[in-house]
Amino acid sequence: MQKENILDWSMEDLERLMEEWSESKFRSKQIIEWLYLKKAGAFALMTNLSKDLRAKLEARFVLRSLKIQDSRESKDGSVKFLFGLNDGNAVEGVYMPDENRRALCVSTQVGCKFHCAFCLTGKMGFIRNLSPAEILEQVLAVQEWLGPEKTLTNLVLMGMGEPLDNYDNVMKALRIFNSPAGFKFGGRKITLSTVGLLPALERFQKEDLKINLAISLNAVDDAARSRIMPANKKYPLKDLLKFCREYPLQPGRRITFEYVLVPGVNDTDEDAEKLSRLLRGIKCKVNLIPLNAGEGVPFSSMPQDRVDRFHKILVNSNISVFTRKSRGGDILAACGQLGGGWAA
Ligand code: SF4
Repeated sequence: MQKENILDWSMEDLERLMEEWSESKFRSKQIIEWLYLKKAGAFALMTNLSKDLRAKLEARFVLRSLKIQDSRESKDGSVKFLFGLNDGNAVEGVYMPDENRRALCVSTQVGCKFHCAFCLTGKMGFIRNLSPAEILEQVLAVQEWLGPEKTLTNLVLMGMGEPLDNYDNVMKALRIFNSPAGFKFGGRKITLSTVGLLPALERFQKEDLKINLAISLNAVDDAARSRIMPANKKYPLKDLLKFCREYPLQPGRRITFEYVLVPGVNDTDEDAEKLSRLLRGIKCKVNLIPLNAGEGVPFSSMPQDRVDRFHKILVNSNISVFTRKSRGGDILAACGQLGGGWAA
């Protein structure tokens, strides 16, 4: 029988297994702590479990299914990782250090179905969903690579794939990221980004996870949005913004709207003015992301003066706005560039 990956099992799954094996339920919490808090890479290290239980776990499970196959460091300190999977596929992740923040951009699918025009992952097409273990192991692998002195502080689910299109596996991984017995990332430290799959968002808002929500908005009318994000044809702007307006935010929280500035598509003064009108009444902030032009992306880069102008119009309309520094452009690790290959 092929062994299962224990990281695919939730605390509740392990509780059921412990009952079946006539062990105390409490063992499941201890196992989860070994896996994620203490990051044990072998069952033999789980010394507060009996030898008999460790042997049973060893016979049934493996602990790893992903490894860092390659990495490239950018001049700005960010690092792109190529994670090799058991079936020969690979996904990418990006480590982005700042003064007090060490964030990892995590992938959730091999490829993607949504074909956003500014994104190289979309050009790959969809290959498969990642398992919960493969999502969790990206964080374990990078944390191990960083060593104990540098702990990851933030996770952003903005890597390859659309997280809400792999709903169950992503939710299972998020519960472990957020659990006090698991990785212990607070809800404010985790951000899930989506193109706006409304049925999945309706489900997501009922989850007891209090993580940050980012909407990849990128345009102010359906014609422009559908041109660069085909998902808009199914879930149009009006419905998406209605959802955002009614989204039950935690106190002090805001929705993030990601806005990739694409020259000639969504970057005029009128676009900025319309954006500020559309977002009126929604507790939100806007992340402006100047497009990273590159091979395979049919647009040119955004001139800085246009970015600054768009930014200023939003500020003058009392919209909270940040222009995101492009990270890792020299190693094809910037926004929209994952899946674009490995810079030498
Ligand atoms: S931006 Fe996200 S949803 Fe769109 S194609 Fe790329 S990975 Fe898929």
